Amino acid sequence: MISFNFNEHCCGCGSCKNSCPVNAITMKADTEGFLMPEINKEICINCEKCDKVCPYENTKVDIKKFSLSDFDNKKAYLYYSSRPERKDSASGGLVYDLSHRIVDNGGFVCGCVWDKEMRACHIVSNKLEDLRRMQSSKYVQSDTKLCFVEIKKLLKEKKEVMFCGTPCQTAGLHQFLGKSDISKLISVCLICHGVPSPLVWENIKRQ
Ligand SMILES: Cc1cc2nc3c(=O)[nH]c(=O)nc-3n(C[C@H](O)[C@H](O)[C@H](O)COP(=O)(O)OP(=O)(O)OC[C@H]3O[C@@H](n4cnc5c(N)ncnc54)[C@H](O)[C@@H]3O)c2cc1C
Repeated sequence: MISFNFNEHCCGCGSCKNSCPVNAITMKADTEGFLMPEINKEICINCEKCDKVCPYENTKVDIKKFSLSDFDNKKAYLYYSSRPERKDSASGGLVYDLSHRIVDNGGFVCGCVWDKEMRACHIVSNKLEDLRRMQSSKYVQSDTKLCFVEIKKLLKEKKEVMFCGTPCQTAGLHQFLGKSDISKLISVCLICHGVPSPLVWENIKRQ
């Protein structure tokens, strides 16, 4: 059963919740509104699937080992969309253009939208109107709900899927997918300095 100092280390990606075969994990808001797993010990069957998919427990990266020379042979590109919808994107609309291409080719996109209560959450869709909702940065933590399960199912059906989210969420998704065939998955990590508190956002909404 997943258990570490959530307040200190959990990024709230929801990978554990997505992995639980008996729905014993709920993502609950902490005192600042950040989503953390809450485990119902009464129904937990101790299968340890949540431990196996947690990016914190399984991705041990020592950032001290990185140096500038690691980037010597890496390529970087500048891009901006030539579509008129670009003005509704955050930084030139690369993600929007990529999403459009995936959907035009029969695939699905998982990205962050505002729901009816103006809460940020991820959805999976192949509808162009939803790609418009995914455009631009929502500066608050997004709830990935059960999107990882949906993505796994689509990949199994050999559908192309693009995921766009924070690097933490992307790490969670990859850990969740484990040994699944991910040849039809495109993951896009946005540059992210960290997600602001959902509770601050809720308070702003009430003003
Ligand atoms: C929490 C957060 C922190 C950021 N920090 C930085 C930073 O430090 N430096 C910097 O240069 N840029 C930062 N950005 C901006 C981000 O890098 C741009 O959104 C990115 O450049 C994409 O631009 P675009 O025009 O291609 O995407 P668009 O076409 O505007 O699409 C935006 C994409 O971002 C995803 N997205 C939006 N909000 C969220 C969210 N809350 N959680 C997960 N995914 C989300 C959507 O799914 C969508 O696919 C941040 C964005 C967010 C949401």
